[in-house]
Amino acid sequence: MEKGNIFIVAAPSGAGKTTLVSALLAADANVKLSVSFTTRSPRPGEENGKDYHFVSRDAFVDMIGKGDFLEHAEVYGNFYGTSEKWIREQLATGQDILLEIDWQGAQQVRKLFPEAISVFILPPSLEVLEQRLRGRGKDSEEAIQVRLKSAQDEIRHVDEYDYVIVNELIDASVHDIISIVRAARLRIVNQSRKFAQLMSELKGV
Ligand code: 5GP
Repeated sequence: MEKGNIFIVAAPSGAGKTTLVSALLAADANVKLSVSFTTRSPRPGEENGKDYHFVSRDAFVDMIGKGDFLEHAEVYGNFYGTSEKWIREQLATGQDILLEIDWQGAQQVRKLFPEAISVFILPPSLEVLEQRLRGRGKDSEEAIQVRLKSAQDEIRHVDEYDYVIVNELIDASVHDIISIVRAARLRIVNQSRKFAQLMSELKGV
């Protein structure tokens, strides 16, 4: 049976992950984004079922009990998790999927799917990261320092990932992430399944 690829994309906030992932999804119809479940409240403009499945803490705990999650983690006081059923259905049809999850989730997914491809996105400098975390300059210095510390906690896991993109110029970074997806599809494990007949003909066996 055909089997899709799993791509894990992680980044600290302020690295430009959302823009990069949106560009990849727009450029490649064969990659589908997994919509996570979360207990955090929706931010203005976020849609239930599109950005996240927003659920109560009780509902989330209930789902953990039923074994509904492929992975789940607590991130800054809220729960986040990936639906196992959806992922397995997509993979079985040969669909590639992209998980935007934190380092804890990435570790859990790697254990279950060692062939998953993980990508970490870094900001080009500490100054740029700080600038981006300061946003429109409306937050207190304390809030900004908390965000910076969280970003650095995530970045300390960068060595666990297969690929790293330093997101300085967005066009180049989009090109990089598209290249990673293409290269993953060309791995022998995928090609030998897709071109089994051709390969055996060419080998003369
Ligand atoms: P935010 O609340 O800003 O959308 O996301 C906060 C953090 O939670 C980000 O680092 C994001 O990658 C992570 N996250 C989002 N969905 C999931 C998920 O399903 N599982 C895990 N482990 N982390 C997630």
